[in-house]
Amino acid sequence: MIKHIVIIGAGPAGLLLAHYLLNNSNHYQISIYEKRSDPRENTYSNRAFVIGLTKRGQQALKAIDGLWLSVRKKGMEMHKTSTYSQKQKKWQSFSRSQDSEQFSLLINRNDLCIALLNELEKRSDNRLKITFNAPCLDVDLKNHAVKLVVNDTQTLSQSYDLLVGADGVRSSVKEAFLKQPGFDFQQKYFDIGWKVLHIPRPQNISGDTSYFFRKIYQENNSKFKQHNLSGAAIPELNDRLCILMFWTQEATQIRGNPPRIQTYSDLQKMINEEWLPGIQISDEQAQEFFNQRSSTVVETKCNRYHDLQGQAVLIGDAAHAMSSYLGQGCQAAFNDVLVLDKLLKEEADNLDIVLTKYSQQQVKEGHAITDLNTQLSPKAKWLIFLFNTVRGIEIKLNQQFPKLFNPSFFVLLSQTTMPYSEIAHKFSFWMRLIKWSNKKALTKTNGID
Ligand SMILES: Cc1cc2nc3c(=O)[nH]c(=O)nc-3n(C[C@H](O)[C@H](O)[C@H](O)COP(=O)(O)OP(=O)(O)OC[C@H]3O[C@@H](n4cnc5c(N)ncnc54)[C@H](O)[C@@H]3O)c2cc1C
Repeated sequence: MIKHIVIIGAGPAGLLLAHYLLNNSNHYQISIYEKRSDPRENTYSNRAFVIGLTKRGQQALKAIDGLWLSVRKKGMEMHKTSTYSQKQKKWQSFSRSQDSEQFSLLINRNDLCIALLNELEKRSDNRLKITFNAPCLDVDLKNHAVKLVVNDTQTLSQSYDLLVGADGVRSSVKEAFLKQPGFDFQQKYFDIGWKVLHIPRPQNISGDTSYFFRKIYQENNSKFKQHNLSGAAIPELNDRLCILMFWTQEATQIRGNPPRIQTYSDLQKMINEEWLPGIQISDEQAQEFFNQRSSTVVETKCNRYHDLQGQAVLIGDAAHAMSSYLGQGCQAAFNDVLVLDKLLKEEADNLDIVLTKYSQQQVKEGHAITDLNTQLSPKAKWLIFLFNTVRGIEIKLNQQFPKLFNPSFFVLLSQTTMPYSEIAHKFSFWMRLIKWSNKKALTKTNGID
C-alpha cells in the first residue's frame, strides 16, 4: 500500500497534485519539498510571468471544491485578442468566442501558486506537510530515498513509497532517471530569448484583451538571415500589464535584447511606435527591461515518465518542457495530475500498473503538444500569411456554421479538452508542411542552400 508520497517542487503541478491526492485517499501522507521560499512571503517578483488558463486548465481546477473560485479571483478574464492594423492605425480586437464562459484566465504564475497554497492551507489537513527552502539534491531510486537540504544547512534523507518529480525543467528527479538504463531523454535549446516587464495598465488598454504583435526584420547584408520578434501585452490583476517579448537570439547569449534595440530610448520608441502602439514605458521601466537577463526556451522529451524500480514519476515541466508559443505548458501539467490521480484510484495504488499506464498515456500527449508547439509555428513569411489566413477563415466559418465546419486548431486547443494527440493527428498536414518549410528556412539561414 502507498503511504508516503513525496512531491519535489511546489509549482502549479506539485500543488495541484497535493489537492487531488488529499481528496483521493485518507491513507496518503504527503510531503512537498520546494527549493524556493514561500511565494506568499516574497515581495513582488519582476520576472514572474502571466500565463493563460483555458478550458483544459480550468477544468482541472474546478474539480476541487473552492479552488477555481480562489484562482479566478487572482486572475483576469481574457475574452478578446487584438492586433494592430498599420493601415488603419488602430488596434483591432477579435472575440475569442461567442460563449462568455470561454475565456482564458490570465494569472501570474506566482499568484496561481499562492491560490493553490491558500486552499491547501484552508484544509488544515495534517496529512500534508510543505517545506520551503528545501532543495532536493539527490535521489536514490534503488533505496527509495531523497536527499534534501532543510533549514539552510541540514541535510535530510527522506524515504518514500511514491516519489513525484514536479520540479520543473531542470528536474533533480529526472537527473536520477538519466542514470537508469533505457531512459531516453532529448533536450533542445531554441535560439530564442525572452524577457518580461510589468507596468501599470494604461487607460486605453482594456482589461479583457491581450494585445499581440509579430515582426520579422531582415538582417543587414544578408538575404536570408532574419530576426523574428513577437510579444504580447497581457492584463494583470490590480490594473497592471505584463509585457512579454520573444526574439531570435543565439542560445549562448545571456543578456540579449530584441532586435533594433541599442539604448533605453530605442526600446521606448519601438514599443510605443511599432510594437505596441499607444503603450509607453518610463525611463526606469526601460532600464529595468534592458538590464534583465534574458531567459531561453527549452524543450525536453522523454521516452517514459516513470521509473518502476525507483517508484518514481515525473509530471509537468519535469516531464515535458516546451515553448510557451501555444500557452499549454501548465495545462499539460494539470492533465498529468488528472491522469495520475485517476490511475491511482482505478488501479487501487498498484504502482506497477499505475506508472506503466501513466507513461503510456502521457508520453504520447507530452510529445504531441511539444510537436504542435514547434511545428505549428511557421517562419517563412508566405507560410505565416497562408496559415493565419486559413485559420481566420476557419474560425469565421465555424462561428457562423458550427454544424458544417470543424473548429479551427486554436479553438480545439483552447476551448475543448480534446487530447493533444488527437489534435496533432487532425492537423498533421499543416505540421508536416511547416516542419518542411522551417527546415528549408534554417538551411538557407545557415548558408547551406
Ligand atoms: C513566458 C512563459 C509563458 C507561459 N505561458 C503559459 C500559458 O499561457 N499557459 C500555460 O498553460 N502555460 C504557460 N507557460 C508554461 C507554464 O509556466 C509551465 O508549464 C508551468 O509553470 C509548469 O508547472 P510545473 O509545476 O510543472 O513546473 P514549475 O512551474 O517550473 O515549478 C517547479 C517547481 O519546482 C521547484 N524546484 C525545482 N528544482 C527543485 C529542487 N531540486 N528541489 C525542490 N524544488 C525544486 C521550483 O522552484 C518550482 O517552484 C508559460 C511559460 C513561460 C516561461
